[in-house]
Order: sequence, then C-alpha cells, then structure tokens
Amino acid sequence: MNVESRKKALRFMFQKVVDPLGYKFSPDEETVDFLLEQEVLLEQKHGIPFCPCQGLTRKREENMKIVCPCIPFHREHFDAIKRCWCLLFVTKDVTNPDELKQIPFGEIKRG
Ligand code: SF4
Repeated sequence: MNVESRKKALRFMFQKVVDPLGYKFSPDEETVDFLLEQEVLLEQKHGIPFCPCQGLTRKREENMKIVCPCIPFHREHFDAIKRCWCLLFVTKDVTNPDELKQIPFGEIKRG
C-alpha cells in the first residue's frame, strides 16, 4: 500500500477510535496530513504507527503507550490541554487549535 492510501486508511481507523473518546482530528489539515505521513513512515519502519512526536525507548511496554492514537494512555493530560501531544487530535469543542499550548503533564499537576 502506498503512503497516500495508508494515510487514508489510518485516518479512517483513527476516527473510529477517537470519536467515542471525545476527540476529533485537528482542523489544521496541513498538520494532520504531515503527522499522518510521518506515522505511515514509522509504520513502514517498525510495523506499528508510533507517535511522530514522542521518542521510542528500548522498553516495549513504554513504546506501546505511544502507538497512535495514544489518548487512552494519556487521558488526564490530553483532556487538560484539549489536544494530544502532537496536535493530531483535539477535543471536539476546539475550533482554533493554534490557541492550544503543548503543556507537559508535570506542569499541569503543579499548576
Ligand atoms: S500524541 Fe497524538 S499523534 Fe502522537 S500518538 Fe498520541 S494521539 Fe497519536
């Protein structure tokens, strides 16, 4: 399957996963397209569509927490910032993703 076809397939599958969680794809189509492309490339390399903006470790258990969409593993964090870490997904009420800051979970808990 070529990159464009796989991007479409991932988009279709991810939509079904994130919708019941209260998320949608970011309205920033350019970012979405770029991130999906990176995921397809990661999938071609590793066999799994890992997160394009979180680094892989040597621990499989940790890596499985950054398989896209990783929202269930980071629910408290992402719900608080209304976006996933990469900004591929936002909560359904978001209309302007540019207003959302990428705040580390530790800072939210301290704040
Ligand atoms: S941060 Fe976003 S793009 Fe990255 S794996 Fe999680 S849901 Fe996917």
